[in-house]
Amino acid sequence: MASSHTVLMRLVASAYSIAQKAGVIVRRVIAEGDLGIVEKTCATDLQTKADRLVQMSICSSLARKFPKLTIIGEEDLPPEEVDQELIEDGQWEEILKQPCPSQYSNIKEEDLVVWVDPLDGTKEYTEGLLDNVTVLIGIAYEGKAIAGIINQPYYNYQNNEKEKLREHRNEAKAGPDAVLGRTIWGILGLGAFGFQLKEVPAGKHIITTTRSHSNKLVTDCVTAMNPDDVLRVGGAGNKIIQLIEGKASAYVFASPGCKKWDTCAPEVILHAVGGKLTDIHGNALQYNKE
Ligand code: AMP
Ligand code: MG
Ligand code: MG
Repeated sequence: MASSHTVLMRLVASAYSIAQKAGVIVRRVIAEGDLGIVEKTCATDLQTKADRLVQMSICSSLARKFPKLTIIGEEDLPPEEVDQELIEDGQWEEILKQPCPSQYSNIKEEDLVVWVDPLDGTKEYTEGLLDNVTVLIGIAYEGKAIAGIINQPYYNYQNNEKEKLREHRNEAKAGPDAVLGRTIWGILGLGAFGFQLKEVPAGKHIITTTRSHSNKLVTDCVTAMNPDDVLRVGGAGNKIIQLIEGKASAYVFASPGCKKWDTCAPEVILHAVGGKLTDIHGNALQYNKE
């Protein structure tokens, strides 16, 4: 029997499960200890075994279920048979219970472009700053980012480490047991889910920017904005999470370097809660496959 759900809702529900599997792979590569680091263009532009395995997992899992999609992944990988173990076939039923925004109900598979950043914040991943890392799956229609999924494999990582320390010292546990990792998702016209929306403290102007890809233009631009505080962390996904969770008021990066797989999914989450992501001139980004 044909599914009664729209292509977009089925795709988002599948991408949610695929992003969760990606989180498992990201954690497993760290646990196994061999990151397999390769320099792409320079010492701050890296690829690890996790970037490679996760891209294979996401792109193959999506292509099997949705063969007419255009899927654009960050990593340049040789074509090879993908291990069955990397394929995720599930879909998160909670998403299928949600209504598809009416403007997207007739979208066909071949009209959608999926932008995949298998591991955002690779430099920080190699340095053990694990909560900076995200997996990004962005979905675009007619050049516009309309749906996004962000998995943060090490969400609660710091809490877990502190918890272990407390247990070690026989101190009382603070708060409920923390679960490692989370998935945030959103669709324009429906909303964004999987986190608590927060504002920065009233009157505070806090800028978040790159940690590992800075230059004079980046720092001059941030200084010119006269912020109360500047946060320097890795990952485009991570910085957008800082905005929606009230840790920063604006993400400013006045330099080339961010690509469409970095911004597609995060942009949707930000726009779904009333924020705005633009290029340096204030123009919307275009996510057509060209
Ligand atoms: P960052 O804020 O430094 O973590 O950068 C956000 C995203 O943009 C990451 O995926 C980076 O890999 C990418 N990026 C930013 N600047 C550069 C650059 N100069 N070279 C390569 N990738 C960059
Ligand atoms: Mg990235
Ligand atoms: Mg990446």
